[in-house]
Amino acid sequence: MSDCIFCKIVAGEIPADIVYENEQVLVFKDVNPRAKIHLLMIPKQHIVSLAELDESHAALMGQMMTLMPTLAQGQGLEAGFRTIVNTGKGGGQEVFHLHIHLLGGGELPAFG
Ligand code: AMP
Repeated sequence: MSDCIFCKIVAGEIPADIVYENEQVLVFKDVNPRAKIHLLMIPKQHIVSLAELDESHAALMGQMMTLMPTLAQGQGLEAGFRTIVNTGKGGGQEVFHLHIHLLGGGELPAFG
């Protein structure tokens, strides 16, 4: 997707503070952090949101979730962390390339 900001990060066309990368997945620091640690994990392939997933994405999504513990540990988040996936306008999604927020460090506001 030529107008997708996260695809441009994957392509190296705009800079990002990359924390982890493999063939399918990229993790970088959120440019507007809402916690001491605030990372975004994205699939390198353009998927709009969680609402677009089907069974063909099962291995990819499994890989993303199972990367989380190691990623969190690497950020010093042994005490715990929060993951958020905003989906669609109604879910507060602003960038329409699937991403998982990883937040932690210090006090997080109560949720729900
Ligand atoms: P969401 O509301 O779930 O779509 O969140 C999108 C997130 O992307 C926000 O937390 C933004 O701060 C973050 N963001 C937008 N552009 C960039 C960028 N170029 N580099 C890093 N994070 C970004």
